[in-house]
Amino acid sequence: MSRPGAKPGGLPEQQPDRALKALLREIDPHRIETTVRRLASFGTRHTLSSQDDPVRGIGAARDWIYEQFRDYAAASGGRMTVELQSYVQAPASRIPEPTRITNVVATLRGTDEPGRVYVVTGHYDSRASDVLDATSDAPGADDDASGVAAVMEIARVMARRKTQATIVFAAVAAEEQGLYGSDHLAQVLKDAGTDVQAMFSNDIVGTGDAHDGTAADPRTVRLFVEGVPTSETPAQATTRLSVGGENDGPSRQLGRFVRDVAQNPQTGMSVRVVWRRDRYLRGSDHISFLLRGYPAARFTEPRENFAHEHQNVRVENGVQYGDLVEFCDFRYIARVARVNAAALWSLAQAPGTPKGVIIDTTQLTNATTLRWQASPAADIAGYEVVWRETTAPDWEHALAVGNVTATTIDISKDNVFFGVRAIDRDGHRSPVAAPVPG
Ligand SMILES: [Zn+2]
Repeated sequence: MSRPGAKPGGLPEQQPDRALKALLREIDPHRIETTVRRLASFGTRHTLSSQDDPVRGIGAARDWIYEQFRDYAAASGGRMTVELQSYVQAPASRIPEPTRITNVVATLRGTDEPGRVYVVTGHYDSRASDVLDATSDAPGADDDASGVAAVMEIARVMARRKTQATIVFAAVAAEEQGLYGSDHLAQVLKDAGTDVQAMFSNDIVGTGDAHDGTAADPRTVRLFVEGVPTSETPAQATTRLSVGGENDGPSRQLGRFVRDVAQNPQTGMSVRVVWRRDRYLRGSDHISFLLRGYPAARFTEPRENFAHEHQNVRVENGVQYGDLVEFCDFRYIARVARVNAAALWSLAQAPGTPKGVIIDTTQLTNATTLRWQASPAADIAGYEVVWRETTAPDWEHALAVGNVTATTIDISKDNVFFGVRAIDRDGHRSPVAAPVPG
């Protein structure tokens, strides 16, 4: 049989279209620098710090971010709306007294499929050595003014453009106290039945130079993606134990997609996909989304300097501790923002991830029959079936099967892993959906 698109060792990457190239060029390291410096200037952004001091504390940071998002929204032709999304957290781990927790959320409504949603976050709270210390300086430049600055810069350039699907840009709070802000954001979306098809946390994306004597790696960003889904049910686990698929969860497919669309000369970055949920002993806001069954991943710099995270600002034995602006590389953060923008734009402009993908297991056969639901995208052109050896990390073959919702291929499902992706008339490809037996 013919295998159009087949290429030994992996499928060709998707190249940025003209609109995406123009968008990426607008991402401005100087604006990112201004944002990081401004956020650090609030002294501390600790969750338990002042919420009404106009100069110092998390409340001042919250209000400043809100103003910036409102400015971006003013250029969006009414498509971007901004809200302070807030609730009062009762006393809990790392929250000793009732505390108002506020996410600053800008939503860019999709023009074609507003119900299909992608989320990108950075957390604007910070911390010192003691996680309950709300008064010491905690500039949080890398962790995580860098992530907030990247999200804000993407929001600024995207606000001026129409996207087919909806994108939510959020500066979330209380990450350091235990992911409280993102937990609230994810729950609000879940309660509304929102179809979140991907989420990215940008947390510690400040530099490719660990300032620890090792060589800088300024063209790499790590992307942590889990394998077995956090939200896996016992029934799903039974299927996985029977036929595999531990490397084919929706977050793994998202990781493959990001590298496919965002590792190119226009972003200037390599995406080092790491197949684990997060680093040892650490977590981030993507976990709030994984817990609710949403595909999610975490961007972070290639090598961390732990003297510059979660530390009081001080010099000890000649070593500078603290999360200071001077250790950030604003051009690096801009490149991370470009990676995010390439991923979000490509997700929003492509059709959504195919739904209801079934691999027919009603009888023993050496052929493979796949079925799926028709895409609601107005510009749908058709679908590709992709497959790879079970031992291969990435998709190796693609076969265009036309604008249909079922196909039979003369390759045994016992020997390879299959997936389905949708294609629009401009050639934008969706993330791959792995089939479930049915
Ligand atoms: Zn962080």
